[in-house]
Amino acid sequence: MTNKYTKKKLITKKELKKLYINKKMTYKEIAKLKGFSIHVIQNRIKEYNIKPRIAAKRNQLRENNCMWKGGKIKTEKGYVYIKTDNHPHKTQRGYVAEHILIMESYIKRYLKIISFNNKYNEVIHHINGIKDDNRIENLKLMTHSEHLTFHNKGCTYINNKRLKGVNA
Ligand SMILES: [Zn+2]
Repeated sequence: MTNKYTKKKLITKKELKKLYINKKMTYKEIAKLKGFSIHVIQNRIKEYNIKPRIAAKRNQLRENNCMWKGGKIKTEKGYVYIKTDNHPHKTQRGYVAEHILIMESYIKRYLKIISFNNKYNEVIHHINGIKDDNRIENLKLMTHSEHLTFHNKGCTYINNKRLKGVNA
């Protein structure tokens, strides 16, 4: 006799933890092994307060998702970001601006970024003002304060037009 209650008892917290945490099995694999639906496993994980493996889940999503573009995204401001696992300047989600990566591979070191908005921080200026034109010849390495001064003088040219206050 397997009613809801006895089914629930068939996998203990200890066993589930062993399969899910130690053996790193997926919900699907555990469900198959125990003859449950994935739904039951999901509920037990929640009920037993077992920490879901978010990172593993995300990786699965990434690989299985046909919309996955190899970790390249464009921000609302028009900058291109690349998924990069080990980088001192990566965002919380693990992305680094493509123009930073290209400049760094050219100068063969990481940019100096001391703290947020520090005037000695190194930044990359897009010479033609096009923020996704990350050809090395379009990139110029500057300090944050040089960059500010440059833009405040209105030295950004887009289509040969001098634009003031454009930050690129
Ligand atoms: Zn600039």
